[in-house]
Amino acid sequence: MKNHPKGLFILFFTEMWERFSYYGLKALLVLFLVSKTKGGYGWGEAEALSLLGLFTGMVYIMSIPGGIISDRWLGPKRSVMIGGALLCVGHFMMAFPDPTLFYVALCFIVAGIGMLKPNISTMVGELYTEQKRRDAGFIIFYMGINLGSFLATLSIGFVGETYGWHYGFSLAGFGMVLGQIVFIWGQRYLKHVGNNLKQRQEAPKERLKLSGTDINRLVVLGILFLVIFVFWMSFEQAGGLMNLYAKKYTNRVVFGWEVPASMFQSINAGYILLFGGVVAAFWAVRKTSAIAKMGIGTILVGVGFLFMVGASMQRASAGQSALYWLFFAYWFHTIGELCISPVALSYISKIAPKALVGSMMGAYFAATGFANIAAAEVGKLAGKLGELNIFSGLVIVSVLTGSLLLVFAQRLKKMTREDELEEGIKE
Ligand code: GLN
Repeated sequence: MKNHPKGLFILFFTEMWERFSYYGLKALLVLFLVSKTKGGYGWGEAEALSLLGLFTGMVYIMSIPGGIISDRWLGPKRSVMIGGALLCVGHFMMAFPDPTLFYVALCFIVAGIGMLKPNISTMVGELYTEQKRRDAGFIIFYMGINLGSFLATLSIGFVGETYGWHYGFSLAGFGMVLGQIVFIWGQRYLKHVGNNLKQRQEAPKERLKLSGTDINRLVVLGILFLVIFVFWMSFEQAGGLMNLYAKKYTNRVVFGWEVPASMFQSINAGYILLFGGVVAAFWAVRKTSAIAKMGIGTILVGVGFLFMVGASMQRASAGQSALYWLFFAYWFHTIGELCISPVALSYISKIAPKALVGSMMGAYFAATGFANIAAAEVGKLAGKLGELNIFSGLVIVSVLTGSLLLVFAQRLKKMTREDELEEGIKE
């Protein structure tokens, strides 16, 4: 921790609170929409899930304009500031039980996350000049993300369900305001990062002179985004199909108490907090290229689904499946996520051409946004094809895609000439 810049911790807490508000809202949204009490809208399940899919998809897809605006005009720092302000307004609108305001609020939140999420990640990357430390920095940052998510699913979910939806939404708003305060207060530690091209005094002409290597790097990033799409499409079954599977077919009784299915949603964040450091330490000993790590992560998410196949087979013979399958499945999914998500953020900030880092971060998050939407469609197919077939299909698709990437990892790495980037970057 000592050899990390102070700015990292400003970004850590800003993003922790932003994620707190996002995951808190996400945890409540469907429950609120289908609820007939405490001012819930009493929608059908399918409609509620569709709105959730659209919302979570749009949140990340808007990272494309967010990244472009930052690259071209504002720079990451001002974009994060504006995104944070939009989020504060949006979350507070959610506190009022007014249906029109509700939709306006969701739009503010979508725009706010689009402005904030890719650009705060870019800022983390800018804090570092050395890849090994940058990777470690992103793991720490990622733990902040999951600390926010973990606290949110426990507190906002509880407050919303117990005391009233709008109290839960307000709590999310307070979290976001804290995040914004941290970011404003911490500007003194962020003077040298997140500035726009003009502030960095680079000649405008040089902005988009892309060399052959730059183009190769963009091509490699494009290929990686396709693989990453497959990863997140599989991973994001967590909130949908796996959540429903836990609810409907899993014996959740522990010591005479039936654990609510939604509580399983915090396992992932809990595992990240427990194992983030372990995975980082592992990579420090076993040197592996970023591209290979992404291949391994995609294979691991597939391996995780093997346990869901096991669960489905047990259910077919015994009527219900045991709890441990979910714990194993989520464990592999989480380790896979740690091989992909912080690694991808770090890698993009390293190899994307300077004038396009924000746009590439945006494209990365957009890939995850499209994957969220695809995940919902895949999950819905279970109604026709059965869970066993869907889980088996996800094993095959993920393991194949990850293995393919591993086979070509060396060649792709050569194309990027990424080793040359290690030298000559100013501290
Ligand atoms: N869970 C991570 C976050 O909230 C990654 C999300 C994503 O990339 N779609 O930042």
